[in-house]
Amino acid sequence: MPDDIDYEIYAIKYAHLFRHSPENFIAGDEHDVPMPLDYFVWAIKSPRKTLILDTGFAPAMGVKRGRQHIRSPAEGLKAIGVEPDQVEDVIISHMHYDHCGNHDLFPRARYHLQDREMAYCTGRCMGHAHLRGAFEVDDVVQMIRRIFDGRAVFHDGAGQIAPGITVHHVGGHTSGLQVVRVRTRRGWMVLASDASHFYANFEQSRPFPVVASVVEMLEGYRTLHDLASSRQHIIPGHDPLVLARYPAASAGLAGIVARLDADPATP
Ligand SMILES: [Zn+2]
Repeated sequence: MPDDIDYEIYAIKYAHLFRHSPENFIAGDEHDVPMPLDYFVWAIKSPRKTLILDTGFAPAMGVKRGRQHIRSPAEGLKAIGVEPDQVEDVIISHMHYDHCGNHDLFPRARYHLQDREMAYCTGRCMGHAHLRGAFEVDDVVQMIRRIFDGRAVFHDGAGQIAPGITVHHVGGHTSGLQVVRVRTRRGWMVLASDASHFYANFEQSRPFPVVASVVEMLEGYRTLHDLASSRQHIIPGHDPLVLARYPAASAGLAGIVARLDADPATP
C-alpha cells in the first residue's frame, strides 16, 4: 500500500571545499581547526519511485567559485541504480548555486520549491550583493523557464510530495529554504540541506554566516528537532561527518555514497 512505503535515502558527495572552523559560525570559533564542506545531492528511493533532493553544480561552476568538483551527481546516482532521465520529481531545497545547477540532468522531472524562495531570488533582495552572492542568475532564469514549461510545483509552507515524503518551509539561510521529511524503516528522517550546514550548527544552535534571517535560522534548528524522530535522524547539508557516520551504499562506494536509512555508527 502506498501509505506503508519506507524509503531508502542516499547522500551522494560530488564536491568539496577546504576551510577553517571560524568561517562556519557567525560568531567565529575559538578553536581554529580545519572544518571543510562536502557537497551532496540526495536520493530518496522506494521500489516504485525515486525522488532527488537538490541537483548540485557542474565542473565549470566549481572552477568559477574555487570549489573542488569531484564527480557529476549523475555518476553517483547511476552507481546506486538511479537513471537521472527517469526521475520524475526533484525537490530544490533553495536556489543557491550548489543546490540547483546541472540544468539538463533531469529532463523529465517536476521541480518542487517554495513560493518564498522564488520571490526571494527574483525580487528586491537580489539587488544586494551580500544576499545574491551564492545565487547564479542562470539558475534563476532556468527555473523561470521551467515555470513557463509547467514543470515547477510550488509549495507554501508544508506540502506532501509523495506518501511519506513532505517538505517544510524553514527559511533562515535563504528566505524560502525548505527541508524534507522522509519515512524510513528507522523512523522519520529530516534532510536539512542548508537549514544546517554542519551537525554543530543545529546541535549547538550556532548559526552559519550565510543567512537571510538569523531568527529563522535559529528557529529552524528547533524545527529540525520537531520533525525528526530523534537528533540522530537529522542530516546536515554539508558535513563530511555524514559519510563517516553512515555506512557506504556498497563496498565500492565508501566516501562517495552513504546509506542514510541505516543506523549511524556513532551517536
Ligand atoms: Zn549549500
